[in-house]
Amino acid sequence: MQRIRVYFRMLGLLCCLALTHTCIALSAEKVVSSVSPLGLDVPTVAVRGEAVLATGNSRIAVDVFLFHWLGKKYPAKAIQLADGSWQASILLPVPLQHKKKQEQLALTTVPAGHQGQGLLRVDRLVHVKDKQRPVQSLKVDRKYVEPPAAVQERIKNDREKVRQALASITAGRQWTLPLARPVPGAVSSQFGLQRVFNGKPRGLHRGLDLRGAEGTPVQACADGQAVLCDNLYFAGNSVYLSHGEGVFTAYIHLSEIVVTPGQQVRRGQVIGRVGATGRVTGPHLHLSLFVQGHTVDPLPLLSERYIHTSDEALGHTARVVPNGVKP
Ligand SMILES: [Zn+2]
Repeated sequence: MQRIRVYFRMLGLLCCLALTHTCIALSAEKVVSSVSPLGLDVPTVAVRGEAVLATGNSRIAVDVFLFHWLGKKYPAKAIQLADGSWQASILLPVPLQHKKKQEQLALTTVPAGHQGQGLLRVDRLVHVKDKQRPVQSLKVDRKYVEPPAAVQERIKNDREKVRQALASITAGRQWTLPLARPVPGAVSSQFGLQRVFNGKPRGLHRGLDLRGAEGTPVQACADGQAVLCDNLYFAGNSVYLSHGEGVFTAYIHLSEIVVTPGQQVRRGQVIGRVGATGRVTGPHLHLSLFVQGHTVDPLPLLSERYIHTSDEALGHTARVVPNGVKP
């Protein structure tokens, strides 16, 4: 009994020592962080084919944060928080074809009114891991696997239209997380699957397929501007929205488009209806997310719950059916 009591006393002493140690460690960390006015939050592990959310903070006034990632610089406009600090969040891609096991993310900024001097910098290491991307075999109309010579020009023009739409990057973030679920339907096909059409390998599935009956309203994932509303050969009736600072969403295979290029849309606003146009096996919504020029999996950023917003509630009036050339 005595031995047990001594044992517990020792254990108590050890716990106290451990706690004191932790307190010292925590206060030491506080002292270190107060030296630099910059902070950078980013997950330590990222998945290949997904986007990474990075948030920069500054306790001194800044206009713009620069995020340095994969050899490029991405500016993000700083906003002032209620506590007086300055903050900006950005989405950065880990492309499917990315090779390295770890990447350095750097955040730099110049205090407001000190252009060209007093550059502040903070770095973080991000480990990159893989995810299983299985093979999926599908049967579609032959003209979508071996497009006839007559449509080659059209396919080329479609690519150029999409390239131009995705090049129209605007300053200022309009997106918020989680992204609104565009349709209530469950996932029918994951992002990144290796697609085989009619027995022929045709690259990766660069979007997320969501179930939906023909005519189901499709809602915008976030506030933004319509930058492309057109009928494309493979994608069928498509809407591309720009959400600012390099983030775009695309809604593909629609039966109907109800927004026009240049139109501002709100998160949850109806922009079209589910259909089966283009290279499909049946009606569904194909949702693509583009982050800084790369397609990434929208699913980790998507709201699990579908929030129904009616056209009327959002004062929606436009109703346009694109006059695309049918293949
Ligand atoms: Zn798809």
